[in-house]
Amino acid sequence: MSAATRDSLAVCVVCDLATTLPPLAEGERAECPRCGHTLHERQHTDSQRQVAWSVAALVMLALSLFFPFLALQAQGSEHAIIVADAALALLEYDYAALALLVIATIVLMPAVYLGLMLFLHAARLAGRRPPGAAFMARLLTSMQPWMMSDVFIVGVLVAMVKILTLADVAFGVAFVAFCLFTLLLLKTIVDFDPSELWDSLAGRWPAPVHLKPGRAARAQGVQVCKGCEALYAVSRPNCPRCGRRRPAPDHLRLQATWALLATAAILYIPAMAYPVMRIIDFGQPSEQTIVGGVVYLVEVGSWPIALVIFVASVVVPIAKVMALSWLAWKARLAQAGRGRERMKLYKFTEFIGRWSMIDVFVVALLVALVQAGQVMAVYPGPGIVAFGAVVIITMIAAMTFEPQLLWRDSHGQREP
Ligand SMILES: [Zn+2]
Ligand SMILES: [Zn+2]
Repeated sequence: MSAATRDSLAVCVVCDLATTLPPLAEGERAECPRCGHTLHERQHTDSQRQVAWSVAALVMLALSLFFPFLALQAQGSEHAIIVADAALALLEYDYAALALLVIATIVLMPAVYLGLMLFLHAARLAGRRPPGAAFMARLLTSMQPWMMSDVFIVGVLVAMVKILTLADVAFGVAFVAFCLFTLLLLKTIVDFDPSELWDSLAGRWPAPVHLKPGRAARAQGVQVCKGCEALYAVSRPNCPRCGRRRPAPDHLRLQATWALLATAAILYIPAMAYPVMRIIDFGQPSEQTIVGGVVYLVEVGSWPIALVIFVASVVVPIAKVMALSWLAWKARLAQAGRGRERMKLYKFTEFIGRWSMIDVFVVALLVALVQAGQVMAVYPGPGIVAFGAVVIITMIAAMTFEPQLLWRDSHGQREP
């Protein structure tokens, strides 16, 4: 076998099947024949463009931080907030963990992500490999699911609808800057090809000579790194290219998934039962649970938004716990041929989870905006802490679950 043929072997990070990759032209992508996962997509990762997108996104983010984001007009007075107020208002009522979650997901993580993207691509253009580059590149891939500025924008729109019956709301310049920042951030993510960055940082990584396509890699003593997709011997404790630690043994990861799912299922009860907001409307105090919020939206006639919130906040968290439990249960007795459907279910739960954060952002925004003292005010309720925890814990549960457990190769048993 020639070196070129060996180099074009790829192992699917999702189902562990080794496959021969044809040479790809720009814009083409190769799918795993077994599970349909995208093995490789030849991107035009032009480092100059990545630098440009990151700088533009960072500028927009900076602009969005210092100007008025939203303004509430009621009874002749105006109350304007900046983005950070969504977190600071929660902090004021001692909801520190929730405040940190909000500011980290909408500002801090995207800022670090863009900074690293800029730094690594600028270093690449300069032909250097800065110290700590492997760590930084590893951070880039693991941070992606935790950046939620797109979800935050949907949260802003929902908060607007909820508030319209009480007062007038105006968008500030920072809102426009924040939307542009989010679009640029998405563009940076879509155009980023981690395997190409790794090739330039640490050189191309050849597949082990003995690896045969058409069979699971782990059965052949080879594992694929989930960070940089390098192939290395299962006996090694960490990836020789990026340093990422080998995942814990399957049975331990499965236990972690079960523990997290049980925690999320228990927390779902206070998340639904306790009020997420306390409201003072013309001096009248009242409380609102998540379901109460949906009912309120129906009452004011916002059916589509009510449906979005009902699905994102009530259905998705519990459906996700049930779907992952079912997959974790089925993982013990993987059946040939069923993997593909189960895989789709797993990917869907992984994709949909972060959108449940909408309600956390809605509460944060309303608390920051509606601050007219005795007349009209919104305070956070304990339910929102439990709810935020459910969202985060189910996201981690989906990450700990090993999708390779849903597959067996033609030799029957699950590989070591
Ligand atoms: Zn696959
Ligand atoms: Zn690696």
